[in-house]
Amino acid sequence: MIKNIALVAHDSRKAELMSWVKFNAETLSKCTLFCTGTTGRLVKDTLSKTLGDKAATLEVNCLLSGPLGGDFEIGAMIAEGKIDMLVFFCDNLIMQGHQNDVMGLVRLASLYNVPFATNRSTADYIIASPLFHSEDYKRIIPACIDSYKNRQLK
Ligand code: PGA
Repeated sequence: MIKNIALVAHDSRKAELMSWVKFNAETLSKCTLFCTGTTGRLVKDTLSKTLGDKAATLEVNCLLSGPLGGDFEIGAMIAEGKIDMLVFFCDNLIMQGHQNDVMGLVRLASLYNVPFATNRSTADYIIASPLFHSEDYKRIIPACIDSYKNRQLK
């Protein structure tokens, strides 16, 4: 079951993410959201406007802005097992000043087998999946992580 969702969008794709957030407002309102700073402020605003009174119980946590360490914060939460799904709409046309952080977050989402959408279609497929609400489905932590922890050192 997916409860804790991380949301990040680069500036050129924030409008696209807000459109997705609006479309999925009811589902997202039942989740705990963790966002990079600017994305989070927009997510709160979008959900408040869309949900009206129902927005009172929203859990939207704004971390640092991405270029100021927010991507690292989300990456660390993934490594600690605190994030169930990542939606990360990156700008695919320009390099970011914090490109290394972007790549680090992508790497950790892949490493820890976190459901991870980099575009709207994938985000829609994940949120519409029966597994999204399943209490039985448990994300597998890849065996390579334990292998790495237990590796032999000379
Ligand atoms: P922001 O960060 O939500 O603070 O704009 C996003 C990013 O660039 O990673």
